[in-house]
Amino acid sequence: MLAALLALALAAPLAGKTVAIDPGHNGGNYLHPREIDRVVDAGTLRKACDTTGTETAEGYTEAAYNLDVALRLRAVLRAEGARVVMTRTTNTGWGPCITERAAIGNRAHADAAISIHADGGPSGGRGFHVIYAPSIPGLTDDIYAPSKRLALDVRDAFHAGTGMPYATYLGDRGLDVRSDLGGLNLSNVPKVFIETGNMRNSTDAGLLESPAFREREARALARGVTAFLTGAAR
Ligand code: ZN
Repeated sequence: MLAALLALALAAPLAGKTVAIDPGHNGGNYLHPREIDRVVDAGTLRKACDTTGTETAEGYTEAAYNLDVALRLRAVLRAEGARVVMTRTTNTGWGPCITERAAIGNRAHADAAISIHADGGPSGGRGFHVIYAPSIPGLTDDIYAPSKRLALDVRDAFHAGTGMPYATYLGDRGLDVRSDLGGLNLSNVPKVFIETGNMRNSTDAGLLESPAFREREARALARGVTAFLTGAAR
């Protein structure tokens, strides 16, 4: 019996856990300016329902990239036994709004939620950063501590697993704290954003355009989420 349980735990370390994955933006957003420009309550401010995102100089869109990494991450997490909920599974529609992106993780009672993005930073800047919200009374005070732990686990795993450097143009050793992101402010479950690289930098763009690199990213992200969910020591 114990051996069987041990085998199960090793094969499916995330059995019983739910992870929400939010691929930022959507490939059809640019066709729906009225819908995505609608102003919604992001907790600390009112802002657009969604935005179009950035793209590489080669025209690889952030929306397509985010979904690709998200689907790869879903596959790895499912193989580890997790239940995975997604905020979108195609790149042809618009939205959902940032409010709904948070609500999807909340309704699923996710044990962890991660929003996947790539940045449109200065072309001379490289690297990734993980974002979590500060403790905002009535909004994020209840998820601040676990979200920060999740941010550290994802930051460490992504750095080790991909070799992508910490962002050189903002943040602090691959971490940033922001109070203006509705997807974080409105979350009732531990949640982080990751800007996995800078699409406007040619070196980062070359990596992000590589399917093999995206697979490495997904496996690294899964290791970070798994470390958080299983309480593995950092
Ligand atoms: Zn984005």
